[in-house]
Amino acid sequence: MDANQENNRAAWLEGPAAKCSPIPNRSGPAWRLVLLGPPGVGKGTQAALLSRHLGVCHLSTGDLFRAARNRSETDSTPAMAAALDVMRRGHLVPDEIVWDMVNERVGCLRCPGGFVLDGFPRTLGQAESLKLLLEQEGLPLHAVVNYVLPVAEIVSRLSGRRTCEKCKSIFHVTAQPPRAEGICDQCGGRLYQREDDRPDSITIRLEAYERSTAPLIQFYRSLGLLTPVLATGSPQKIFQRALTELEARRAAELSDVDLSTTGRRIPKA
Ligand code: AMP
Repeated sequence: MDANQENNRAAWLEGPAAKCSPIPNRSGPAWRLVLLGPPGVGKGTQAALLSRHLGVCHLSTGDLFRAARNRSETDSTPAMAAALDVMRRGHLVPDEIVWDMVNERVGCLRCPGGFVLDGFPRTLGQAESLKLLLEQEGLPLHAVVNYVLPVAEIVSRLSGRRTCEKCKSIFHVTAQPPRAEGICDQCGGRLYQREDDRPDSITIRLEAYERSTAPLIQFYRSLGLLTPVLATGSPQKIFQRALTELEARRAAELSDVDLSTTGRRIPKA
C-alpha cells in the first residue's frame, strides 16, 4: 500500500478470512507503532492521519468491537455478547477476549505495510502478551506515541464528539463541526454520539484508563519506545508534532543512536 492510499482493513474488522483492499505492499521500511493516551485525546483521528501519511494500517480494537456489535447482535458468542455489554457501559473488555480477537488477526501484525495500533494494548497483561508475540514473530515496534492532555479538555472533547456511522470520521460539535449538522462531510452518513461518550461512561472510562492503561507509560518508557506528544491544538498540529518525533527516532535508529532508557536521543558511547 502506498502512502495516502487507505486500506479498507477488512482482515482486521471482519476477521482473518477477509481480504484487505488494496493489499498492502511497500518497498521501504514499514512502521509499527502503538498509540497511547487517555480516551478523548484524539488517538483515532491521529491514527487515521498517521495511517494515511505513513501508508500503514489503522488497527483499532474499539473499531473491531464496534464492527462485531453491528454485524451480529444475534449470532455473537455468549463471551462476545458479554464483552459488548461491558464495552457499552464504558468498562474494559476482559484481556482474554481482547487477546483472542488480536491473536486471531496476527496476519495484520505481520503485514508488510506495517501498522498503527490504536486502543491496544490497554493493560499491562495485553502489553506483555503483545511484546512476546512480536518478539516471536521478529517484528520490533518502532515507537509508542503517548498523547498528553489535561483532564478538563479530555472531558470536553469526549462529550462533544460525534462519529459517522458509515465511514467512522470524527467531528466535534464546537471544535470541528460538520458543514451540515448531524451529517458527515466525507460520506453524507449520519453522525451519532457513541454510547460510551455519554457523561457517566466518560467518568468510568477515565478511571479505567488511570487504573489500567497509565502504567503502560512506564512499561514502554523502560523499553526506550515512549515518544511523548503534547495533544493540544488542531489535529494537524498534533500530527505534525508526532511526525517530527517519529522522523527523529527513525533518523536516530539509522545513525545508530541509543534511545533505550529515556526515549531521549543520546549518542552511543
Ligand atoms: P475505543 O474506541 O478504543 O475507545 O474503545 C471503545 C471501548 O472498547 C472501550 O471503552 C472498551 O470497552 C473496549 N476496548 C477497546 N479496546 C480495548 C482493549 N484493548 N482492552 C479492553 N477493552 C477495549
